[in-house]
Amino acid sequence: MIPYGRHSVDEDDVQAVALAMRSGWLTQGPAVNEFEEALAAAVAADYAVVFSSGTAALHAATAVHGLGRGDRVAMPSLTFAATANCALYVGSSPVLVDVERETLNIDLAQIPSDVSAAIIVHYAGLPADLRALRSRPRVVIEDATHALGARTPDGPVGNCAHSDACVFSFHPVKAIAAGEGGAVTTNSQATARALRRFRSHGMEPDRDQGGWYYEIRELGFNYRLSDIQAALARSQLSKLERFIGSREALADRYRTGLSGTPAHLPAGAPPGFRHAYHLFPVRVANRRRVYEDLQKAGIGAQVHYVPLHHHPRFSSCERVQDLEVTDEAYGRLLSLPIFPDLSDSEQDHVIATMRALV
Ligand SMILES: *Cc1c(COP(=O)(O)O)cnc(C)c1O
Repeated sequence: MIPYGRHSVDEDDVQAVALAMRSGWLTQGPAVNEFEEALAAAVAADYAVVFSSGTAALHAATAVHGLGRGDRVAMPSLTFAATANCALYVGSSPVLVDVERETLNIDLAQIPSDVSAAIIVHYAGLPADLRALRSRPRVVIEDATHALGARTPDGPVGNCAHSDACVFSFHPVKAIAAGEGGAVTTNSQATARALRRFRSHGMEPDRDQGGWYYEIRELGFNYRLSDIQAALARSQLSKLERFIGSREALADRYRTGLSGTPAHLPAGAPPGFRHAYHLFPVRVANRRRVYEDLQKAGIGAQVHYVPLHHHPRFSSCERVQDLEVTDEAYGRLLSLPIFPDLSDSEQDHVIATMRALV
């Protein structure tokens, strides 16, 4: 079965992990520091703080920005559960917003002016244009779990040019793999310190009081990434440009191969932007039949996502208008396989099967 996404791990990644395992550290140590520095440099942020998952990183981002009970947090309904859960973890309330018809990114114009925060998902890896955000809520968090390697006219996604924090994931289907892992980037030193405390029980060392002394400032968690995972992530990060280049080339081949069919292809990157192509979501009629026939042909397409408001857990969340574009897109969405090691012959099989089916 050709999956919709898959990691690319080579011998040099294995070597990097073996080296970390022989270094005398296993949990958070020097490899975490190195990876954080490399990640901050790669996305042009002042600080990167890594976590045990993207979900933990999202939780940390909502918590350290002071979101809590009584805060309403706008987000697209067309996203993964973790986007909403990170608001719920801190007691705040998701406000579900519709997406734009072409990009499937949150419709910035529909974000209510009185929400405390907005979580902007760069759907499929195409950056939302945050310059268009008119009334900026108190907190803006980018869920950039699809968008490591993407760019805007203001630089790499992750530089927080128009946000307080930017969240990444290193789950194996994402741009780079750590097994599990995530990160928050920010340009605020105070935020970075709070994120580090949150990741490790709320502890802040205070050497002036003695070498042993630390203070628990607030509720924290154990959300640390291990050095084993950080070594893998660091090795993977050095290949990010090649990975995204492969994804762009695959997207181009899909556009050529599927042109002239009724399949609606995803929006490309506008001038000055770079799409990271975490996903290649097409829209088709008879999605269920196409999905099942692809399965029979050995192609594991996927649907991103069952909108939040369709799930029992989120169905009572506040909605802005009727989420009509989200529902219409959801009825037709299908993510075709896209990952750096997808071979031309595998992709040709996907293209030929799609041409026959749609
Ligand atoms: C992958 C993903 C996450 C969570 O990342 P994990 O590392 O799997 O916890 C959050 N939001 C979106 C939109 C994602 O696709």
